[in-house]
Amino acid sequence: MTNNNTRPNIIIVALDSLRADHLGCYGYHLNTSPEMDALGQESVVFDAAFAAGIPTMPSFTTLLTGLHPYRTGIVSHIGQRRLAEHVQTLPELARERGYVTVGIDNLVVQGEGRGSWFARGYDHYSGYLYRPFGDQDARLTDRALDYIEEYTDAPLFLFLHLWSPHTPYGPQPPNDTRFYEPGSAPYDMAEVRKLQPDYYESFVNDMKLAHPEDYAYLVAQYDGEIAQADAQVGRIVRALKQRGAWDDSVLLVLSDHGECFGEGGFHFDHHGLYDAVTRIAMLMRLPGRGPGRCGALVSTEDIFPTLTAVADLPAPPYPLTGTSLLPLLDGKTAETRPYVVSAESTRQASLALRTLEHKLVLPFTEDSTGAPLPDFYGRPRDPAPLLFDLRADPDEEHDIADDASDKLAELMGMLHTWRMEMAEATGEPDPIQAQGLSLSFDRFMERLLARR
Ligand SMILES: [Zn+2]
Repeated sequence: MTNNNTRPNIIIVALDSLRADHLGCYGYHLNTSPEMDALGQESVVFDAAFAAGIPTMPSFTTLLTGLHPYRTGIVSHIGQRRLAEHVQTLPELARERGYVTVGIDNLVVQGEGRGSWFARGYDHYSGYLYRPFGDQDARLTDRALDYIEEYTDAPLFLFLHLWSPHTPYGPQPPNDTRFYEPGSAPYDMAEVRKLQPDYYESFVNDMKLAHPEDYAYLVAQYDGEIAQADAQVGRIVRALKQRGAWDDSVLLVLSDHGECFGEGGFHFDHHGLYDAVTRIAMLMRLPGRGPGRCGALVSTEDIFPTLTAVADLPAPPYPLTGTSLLPLLDGKTAETRPYVVSAESTRQASLALRTLEHKLVLPFTEDSTGAPLPDFYGRPRDPAPLLFDLRADPDEEHDIADDASDKLAELMGMLHTWRMEMAEATGEPDPIQAQGLSLSFDRFMERLLARR
């Protein structure tokens, strides 16, 4: 696959719901990720990369457009809004410049028809239905390897979206027991179920676990799924090397968002704008550029302009909200964005503004018609903003909004200014307030119970 073209292959492997701090290269104490750890030695590992929107559809729309969800209007998963036709996606730009473009992804197929733009720009869009409890990741990676073998003349753009380690957790043996440390978790499943019995009974029972009463067993299943997906990353790396394509390939391995294990009172899902959810794993291997770690604040908005710069693809005829990371990676600047704004409006609605030191979380309690926007569990929300000092409290357990009113006012002012800029750029009202929740607790429970 060594191509004679001056443009590098662009290979993106996206692992759904992968929490950065459950990988060895991000300091995890278990050996869940030997392949990604090895890849990290050849890549830039981003320590402070954040999703501009969660969960999957907002996060990946931003990845593929370089635009914040507040610019595209794609602020929720399987919401009503479609991506505007004039917005260009990364595979569209790549195909225009001679790339063979391949997407192996399920967002069009499984998203109730609402993710149609995820198929744009591909010569080959290989859709699939997510099937947990099997070896689907391996079969999807087989498809990717076929394309890596087949295309020898044109540069290849490949987007491979694997759903491990998303729920339901169900790794294949031996990965189901490899990371199990009985009784090691700080939560009692009986207490977790009490939080919302209908929800957790259905949700956890769906997974048909060997030890459903041990929280540590559930985390071990999640870790086992990471190990399964990690092995597939290793297969991609080896295939590129064996085919002599490594020196011509950009390889980006990243997650769309993380997963909660108790943060915000949420378990085994990915909502709320805590770092457990908004911080992503991100390894970028660039030919001709050395490996290293990057502690600068980075948003998923910045990936599109970085990759278009690396591949010399034309910029779209409108301003992006992201900026290229190349000057940072080349040491030409140490400056980075002052903050990342993250949005959610799928199971509950919030905005967060995160700097390196602080996080402000602004709950949305009603939509533009005045209808209530409940929380993840269907309860009324407290409208009071939350403030966390991330240096002293990296787990975001202590809200200091009442004690740090100056800092709160400063960050609220920054967020207000940002929202005004977004509204001015789009000429539209706040998209979260205009659209409401795409998957409220009641609707989610209907879907969950209908599956049984
Ligand atoms: Zn996802």
